[in-house]
Amino acid sequence: SPLLEVRGLTASVKETGQQILAGVDLTIREGEIHAIMGKNGSGKSTLTKVLVGHPHYEVTGGTILFKGEDLVDMDPEDRSLAGLFMSFQAPIEIPGVSNFDFLLMAVNARREKSGLPALGPLEFYSVVSPKIDALNMDPKFLDRNVNEGFSGGERKRNEILQLSVIGADLALLDEIDSGLDVDALEDVANAVNGLLTPQNSVLMITHYQRLLDLIKPSYVHIMENGKIIKTGDSSIATQINEGGFKSIALV
Ligand code: ADP
Ligand code: MG
Ligand code: MG
Repeated sequence: SPLLEVRGLTASVKETGQQILAGVDLTIREGEIHAIMGKNGSGKSTLTKVLVGHPHYEVTGGTILFKGEDLVDMDPEDRSLAGLFMSFQAPIEIPGVSNFDFLLMAVNARREKSGLPALGPLEFYSVVSPKIDALNMDPKFLDRNVNEGFSGGERKRNEILQLSVIGADLALLDEIDSGLDVDALEDVANAVNGLLTPQNSVLMITHYQRLLDLIKPSYVHIMENGKIIKTGDSSIATQINEGGFKSIALV
């Protein structure tokens, strides 16, 4: 069965009942890279948030199967332990918790689930260190509190550090290219590419060809009004960048 299979997914804002997702169908198999493009407000971020179980949204219909298991009633922590990772458009700060401790806790929670012994701080440092280097990050990052006082670019690098340390079967990357300079974008893209194996998959949301040139998608989807209205290969992205969304024939 596919890694992720979304069928007829509808979802609303919990507080107001306003429907945002209007019947999303999406299939992601192991090893595939998918990109979602679409105008502002088309529901791209909401889709990723609903997939990870964000509490502001309620699933009102359809199904989400991840590794054949129904995700809808699973809490966000369990979805993450099951192998879903999400980068946030605006990552949160966690006061009083250092990056190092946060990452170590996350890794040990997963090791415990797999019946592996917990890593001690020294062992873990030798795991993290090469990943920090690969992202051209300062090791002092590890001592700072999660996201506290980070610049936009630092937050993004830090999220990708989390992804590369924690690992994921499916990484949901929402506009990881926003606010990154060219060098940072390259570091982030290299790190993501370095994580890809025939078993790992990525779903990325972006407005920019730049990212798609660095992380080459197998499929590009166009989202509009809470639905995926077209799916194709990376030539769709080129077409949008040249002629805008209006240039895409929707049949
Ligand atoms: P995109 O990521 O494609 O720009 P979003 O998924 O962020 O779009 O939002 C889709 C639509 O749903 C927008 O009109 C947005 O204002 C609305 N929306 C999303 N989340 C909420 C929320 N929690 N409360 C009210 N409206 C929301
Ligand atoms: Mg938005
Ligand atoms: Mg968005």
